[in-house]
Formats: sequence, C-alpha cells, structure tokens
Amino acid sequence: IERQLTHRAAARSVSGMAAVLAHEIKNPLSGIRGAAQLLEQNLSDADRALSQLICAETDRIRKLVDRMEVFGDERPLVKEPINIHDVLDHVRRLSENGFAKGITFVEDYDPSLPPVPGKRDTLIQALLNLVKNAAEAIRDREHGRISIQTAYRPGVRLSVPGTETRVALPLMIQIEDNGPGVPEYLRPHLFDPFVTTKPQGTGLGLALVAKIIGDHGGVIECDSEPNRTIFRILLPTHDQPRLGKPG
Ligand code: ADP
Ligand code: MG
Repeated sequence: IERQLTHRAAARSVSGMAAVLAHEIKNPLSGIRGAAQLLEQNLSDADRALSQLICAETDRIRKLVDRMEVFGDERPLVKEPINIHDVLDHVRRLSENGFAKGITFVEDYDPSLPPVPGKRDTLIQALLNLVKNAAEAIRDREHGRISIQTAYRPGVRLSVPGTETRVALPLMIQIEDNGPGVPEYLRPHLFDPFVTTKPQGTGLGLALVAKIIGDHGGVIECDSEPNRTIFRILLPTHDQPRLGKPG
C-alpha cells in the first residue's frame, strides 16, 4: 500500500509541476515574443528574418506549453451540455479554411444525437487534433477525403476493466480519412505521448486527445488499414467518472 501511495503522490506532483511550469513559462515567453516583434521595426531585412524566426519559434514553444498545461491539469472538468454537431461544424470550418484546404469533407450527422456533458474548448481541441492528423496523413489533397460521422446508439455498453460495472457510451463520433493508414508497428503506441513519425511532430496530439476524451468519461479507438483510417470516440450522455487509459 505504501509503495502505491508514494507512486501516486509522485505522479500527481509531476503532472502538477508540469501545469505550474507551463504557466510560469508563458509570461517570459510572451515577453520575448513582444520584444522580438518590436525589434523587427528597426531592423534591416536580413535581421528582420532573424526576429521573425524568434517569433515563430516562441509560437512553437507556446503551443507545447499549452498542451503541457492541459496534461498537467487534474481538476475535474466543469461540464455543460454540448451540441456536438455545432462543435464539429466549427472544427470543420477552421480546418477547411486552414490546414486542410483542398481536401474534401463529407459529413454524416445523426440528427437524434443528444447533447453531451462536456467542455466545449477542450472538445474542439481534441477533434481539431484528429482532423489535423487526418489532413497531414493525406498526401494527395485532390483525392483526399475526410469523413465526419456521428451516431446515437443507446444499446452500446462497455465494461470497465477490473470491475463488474458496465457504462453506457451511446454517443459516437468518427473521423475517417483515406490517407495511407497508421503503420502497423505504431498502432499499440498510438496514444502514448512523444510517439511521432513526423520530423516536426511533438507526438502529443493523440495523447492529448485521449486525455480529453477520458476526462469526458469516454474512450477513443483507432481502426486503420491502407487508405482508410478511422478514429472512433464513444461518449456518455450523462456525467460519469473517468474510464482511464484506452486499451
Ligand atoms: P504528431 O501529429 O505530432 O506526430 P500525434 O500524437 O498527433 O503526434 O500522432 C502520432 C502519430 O500517429 C503521427 O506521427 C502519425 O504517424 C500517426 N497518425 C496519427 N493520425 C494518423 C492518421 N489519421 N493517419 C495515419 N497516421 C496517423
Ligand atoms: Mg498530431
């Protein structure tokens, strides 16, 4: 028992520390960015490129730090009823006009989908990460397709590992792409932090998605084969505790 306790306390303080550090890094970072931006006005073209580089790189750190903050935050989510279709429309708009330009979007929404208890910002963050990965996997944009599907399946129940409990996860969201697929060797580690195949990747996207969906009492799974990758999220329609890491 003692060992377990020590272990849990350590885990708590590591993630707690991540959140505190993330917060503390943000202030000096925005100072650096602001100064670099001011400098830019009085610089020659060659030096201006350098100050722009400082801005771009601080933006990269900022993104990392934002993610660290979410990971480290162990407070229970403050939830409100969320219309998932609204959230998906928002994600689609952001994607279509940004990183997913040129890719065809297909949507198949189940009109009977009830609201889900959740936090809008973090749900957007999670779904945006999935669509971003899909867009990044698609090489040929002209033939690239991302399908977004929802379904309400009141019969679906899932057993909680190690207990007799079964929870209802009737709400389904699927993001599907026709990119090359997730390499086989990667699949068992897909949701682990720092797993990436991209030269500039952080490998934090899917770990963050899994944390957010877990915080909502849901699960996420991946089905992938060449030219077809599906990320499927199952969510409860009533507030229920975290289910833990996806299996
Ligand atoms: P990052 O995007 O920074 O690499 P992620 O955690 O978002 O980190 O994704 C981890 C890895 O999973 C990616 O590098 C990629 O190899 C793989 N992956 C994720 N989504 C897809 C997808 N839709 N199709 C193919 N591979 C994917
Ligand atoms: Mg990613």
